[in-house]
Formats: sequence, structure tokens, C-alpha cells
Amino acid sequence: MERVQQVHEQQQVAEGSPDSIAAVTRGPPAPQRPEAWREERTRSLEDNVQNLPSIVEAYTAILHGLGEDPDPMAMQFFTKGYQEKIMDVMNDAIFDEDHDEMVIVKDIDMFSMCEHHLVPFYGRVHIGYLPNKRVLGLSKLARIVEIYSRRLQVQERLTKQIAVAITEALQPSGVGVVVEATHMCMVMRGVQKMNSKTVTSTMLGVFREDPKTRDEFLTLIRT
Ligand SMILES: [Zn+2]
Repeated sequence: MERVQQVHEQQQVAEGSPDSIAAVTRGPPAPQRPEAWREERTRSLEDNVQNLPSIVEAYTAILHGLGEDPDPMAMQFFTKGYQEKIMDVMNDAIFDEDHDEMVIVKDIDMFSMCEHHLVPFYGRVHIGYLPNKRVLGLSKLARIVEIYSRRLQVQERLTKQIAVAITEALQPSGVGVVVEATHMCMVMRGVQKMNSKTVTSTMLGVFREDPKTRDEFLTLIRT
């Protein structure tokens, strides 16, 4: 668990400062063992699946208690990511390709549910990676976002899971993931937080070790 923390870079900054995304990379890089990120596994991936029936049950009970007639299909849709396996999605879309320039897909829409408050958070995901002989079909990056966001989530974990999934599938030279999201649990609590956004990032491999690569990624997702 400690190693997971080490290789995970995340910071939250308030939207509004002109360089809110750049702020994510400020500060000295955390020390880490070389290549440690490669060893990271999506260990927590299945952890929540066992709890799903009881979560749905409890959620339904709350809505019943409030006099509502809950739609179990809707709840199932919001959490359908639990039923999907990343490798099933990616297996037929990994290609050998001698391409070693950065691949970026930005502005992927994301809708998820905050696991602390059971209310939505939503926003955009930007993904970049530097291939090492293997590339992924571009639409699959959005599918990875979909699978991990259709769960009860916290934004920091969502960000990391996307980066780790790409790392495991492709063994690229590096991966960068930035998530910008609005959390209804924050917005609804006060007018002064109406426009707040939470930005999280995970940088692995050369995206973490090489500031120039990271800056290239952060510049390209801003344009
Ligand atoms: Zn929340």
C-alpha cells in the first residue's frame, strides 16, 4: 500500500487560477525506486465488487425511506463498471506499432459517483502516453475511463486506476492522466463553491521522471 502511495502523484488545486493544470506538476518530484511504477498492480480493482449487492440494497432502502420509488436499473447503470473487465475490452485492440511519439486523447467526458456521499461528480479526463512498441486503439482509452468511472469512486483513485490500467496493458515508456471534475457534494453545499473544480493527476514513467515530457503533455491538453 505504501508503494502505491509513493508512485501516485496527486494534488488538488482550485480552478480559477490561470495555471491550475500546470500547478499539478509543481513541487519537487517524490523520490521513488526506478521502475517502481511498473510493478504497480490494480489490486484494488475488484475489491468493491463483492460489496455491490449490499450497496445497491442500502441505497434502495434510503430512497424507500424518503418515499421514493427507486429505479434499480439506473443504479445498476451508474455502477456498471464493476461488471466489466479491463482486459476483455483491451485485448483485441493492442497493436504492435513502431511509434514512439506521444499519444494524447483529451476531453473525455466522465460521469461518476462519489463513494463518500453517493452523489455525482463529473468532468473531463485527459490521457497521454508514450508508446514502447505497443499502442492501444484510441477509442479504448475512453472505454477505460468509462469502466472505472461507472463505479462508486473517489477522484484520486479513478485517476490512478486509469493510468495503471494503461501501464499494465501496454508497458509504455510513460503515462499521464489528468482528471478535472466538479463534485456535486461540494457545489451543493455553498454558493461560493459553485465553480470549484478538483484536478488530480497521475504521472508514471517518463511523465514523472522527465519534466520536459510532462510539460509537453500538460501544454498539449491545455490547447
Ligand atoms: Zn462527495
